[in-house]
Amino acid sequence: MPRELSNFGEALNPDLPLSLIRATVDQAPVAISITDLKANILYVNSAFSEITGYAPQECIGRNESMLSDRRTPPEVYRELWGCISRQEVWKGRLLNRHREGRRYLAALTVAPVLNDAGETTHFIGMHRDVTEEYLLQQQVRQQTLFLETVVASIPVSAVLIDENGRIVLANLMYKALAGDLKVEEPALLFLRLLTQESGEEWTDFWHREKAFRNLELRFDPGGGRPSRWFSCAGQWFRHDEGTVDGFFSGSEKGYLLLTVDDVTLQKKQQEQYRLRGLQALMAEEEKLESLKETLFAAIHQVQAPLNLLGAAKNMLDRRGDDPGNVALRELLQQVITAGEASVRTLEKCIPHTDTNGFKPVNLNQVLHDVITLLTERLLASGIVVEWVPTPVLPSLRGSENRLRSLFKQIIENAIDAMAHSRQRELRIHTWTRDQLIHITIEDTGPGIPIELRTQIFEPFFTTKTNSGRQHVGVGLTVAHEIVNQHNGLIRIDPEYNEGCRIHMQFEIRKVQPERRAKVAHG
Ligand code: FAD
Repeated sequence: MPRELSNFGEALNPDLPLSLIRATVDQAPVAISITDLKANILYVNSAFSEITGYAPQECIGRNESMLSDRRTPPEVYRELWGCISRQEVWKGRLLNRHREGRRYLAALTVAPVLNDAGETTHFIGMHRDVTEEYLLQQQVRQQTLFLETVVASIPVSAVLIDENGRIVLANLMYKALAGDLKVEEPALLFLRLLTQESGEEWTDFWHREKAFRNLELRFDPGGGRPSRWFSCAGQWFRHDEGTVDGFFSGSEKGYLLLTVDDVTLQKKQQEQYRLRGLQALMAEEEKLESLKETLFAAIHQVQAPLNLLGAAKNMLDRRGDDPGNVALRELLQQVITAGEASVRTLEKCIPHTDTNGFKPVNLNQVLHDVITLLTERLLASGIVVEWVPTPVLPSLRGSENRLRSLFKQIIENAIDAMAHSRQRELRIHTWTRDQLIHITIEDTGPGIPIELRTQIFEPFFTTKTNSGRQHVGVGLTVAHEIVNQHNGLIRIDPEYNEGCRIHMQFEIRKVQPERRAKVAHG
């Protein structure tokens, strides 16, 4: 005996009047019919008449097949009959025809009724009209399909991200981009980058669900592959999930439709113009730096004899008021005063860097620019460059021009150092760790002896003897000064002994972009 029916029998209270059971079946809000073993109808309740349109006298004695629309595939009926013949309950959906001719979808349950000997004597059928439910389901499915088609046909990479940062939908272009960049979920990487770049402004975008567009990002895939640029736009929308959890409280969820457009080609063209401008700017910078070097040298040249004169005057001062010395002391004082005035004048002439003008700078970009600008020199010197930038590098607040000078100085030093080396490799790495941006620039030159490693940052110290370039040995002093200005650290890595490895580190700070639409580095 089927479990449902045997349980039903056992659950029946023998004291219940049969009339009550009859009234319950009569008034149940589900179409109920009882048939003989050939499905000839013996009884129908009022809901059956309501749903099918047939009054009891119009259907009793006829077969249940009177309800069939003839569009239900025969295998459905075969399955139904197979099931109930084995004394099992059958559940399924089939197309019925209302008395007035319209079709409706019936969710039908057919169960055998057994006698005490366990033989089927009747069948009981229960069905509901689920047409509306089905249409709604179809509508939702169509809408989802439509949305998927729309997202798929967007001519840029598009991805739908839920408020928990999970990707729920992505178009083909996005999947192709993921394969191309060799990154599992570029959207999540881009969001992370946007968070780092835009700081609190991004929190606003995310928590207040504000739309954004034209947020440009630079991606460095490394492995010798060229940089890529992407323009991101985001649009938020809310959608009711319609889950049971939200039956009383609502189950609305926020979604971000992120579109990512590859603007590398346009950027490359802009890049060419920019590099040309940069070249001119670097030439200016170089003049400025050499002016600085010259001024440092001049100050040093003046300061050394001034110190000697000061010492001589001190000696004379200690000898007391010997009239023979008075004229000399006065003369010395005049020379010292004039010399000090000259030093002050020279100091004033040293070009000043305004730290108020600091802006977010992407060091990958700056290093890349310097390598590009020095390409000719590197090629001419037969140097192989290994450029390994971290794909995602947060911005540093600083002066792009000064940082460019810094890297140029260090790379030029490396080029000079490798002039007589057999192996000529320049390796530049960037990475982040412990809230710090790390940069190493290493060469395969002769290296710097341990005892000189702190001295090389002092003015007028140089290990270069025959570099062919004018050198007074203040390049690394300026480099040191630039690093200091950016609250960073610069040192020679003692672990490295294939040449010289300069290690620099800068603090990562959350940066407020100047304008929302201009987070880009490029
Ligand atoms: P049928 O000639 O009835 O048969 C179709 C297939 O079912 C055939 O392959 C045949 O082998 C098998 N079959 C038919 N009768 C038997 C039988 N006595 N024993 C074993 N196999 C059999 N159909 C609907 O379309 N809508 C309904 O709402 C509906 N409610 C039903 C309620 C009950 C309680 C029962 C028992 C059946 C119900 N049916 C319903 C099924 C209905 O009886 C028909 O089988 C079906 O409508 C197909 O009708 P037909 O004339 O096209 O084919």
